[in-house]
Amino acid sequence: MRIGVHTRVSFGYDAAVAYARSLGCESLQFFAGNPKTYRVSPIDTPALQQFAAARVAANIQPVAIHTSYLINLASEDAKITVNSLKLLKNDLKAAAVGGIAYVNTHLGSYGTRERAAGFASVVAALQDALDGIAPGVALVMENSAGAGQLCGGTIEELGAFVRAIDHPNLRVCLDTAHTWAAGYAIDTQDGVERFFDLVERELGLDRVVMFHFNDTQIELGGHRDRHWHIGEGRIGIEGFRAIVAHPGVQGKVAILETPGEEEDDRRNIATLRAVLEGAAA
Ligand SMILES: [Zn+2]
Ligand SMILES: [Zn+2]
Repeated sequence: MRIGVHTRVSFGYDAAVAYARSLGCESLQFFAGNPKTYRVSPIDTPALQQFAAARVAANIQPVAIHTSYLINLASEDAKITVNSLKLLKNDLKAAAVGGIAYVNTHLGSYGTRERAAGFASVVAALQDALDGIAPGVALVMENSAGAGQLCGGTIEELGAFVRAIDHPNLRVCLDTAHTWAAGYAIDTQDGVERFFDLVERELGLDRVVMFHFNDTQIELGGHRDRHWHIGEGRIGIEGFRAIVAHPGVQGKVAILETPGEEEDDRRNIATLRAVLEGAAA
């Protein structure tokens, strides 16, 4: 696997690459703009191209943009969908300029809408975004914790999107904390095998290009999105040991989105490395 962390780029792309390198990472993920606004950030072509060169030099590839948390492709409010699509397309454009392989996005919430109408809206928006996508960029749907009307909380629903859209550049990211909160017991080898059997059946393992490795303190099926340190939550060391040993994750990117500061990142990476070494032994 290629391990990375979610990194801020507010101190510049060079600082982000240096930080990932200092942690011994082979990947990273970042927000290309402010994740809490609908404002579209201008694309700084020279900076993104320099970022690409710095990553190649540091062997930090492939990397991901995480889109704004405000993106909702399922909303009944047309204005929200239009603004969401603008943000998504802008990140896809930035990715094409900067040689960034993955644009990871949440899909949004159906709200009070009938699921079928919301589903159709997400399909139309994703098709629109994929229409102009650069060949080397993948639009990556992240599974959700499945709270209330959130889209993408089940592997079956992600599979339905994949089949309805049928585009090679549409890919999937599985966040372990969301997976657990959605009710999939990935804390044992048995549970992990059952989960990946479902992923294989509904999506195909190749469709999944990236993982978010987060532990969580939420109860199984608790439908809440709260990340915790690797091995210190309900998924635990045993769960992560089974996950990293599974063929479905081999050669793919795993990004840590665990809370805290640099020392926490170091500890989480060290824990994950130890788990990986244990699995390889
Ligand atoms: Zn996310
Ligand atoms: Zn995530």
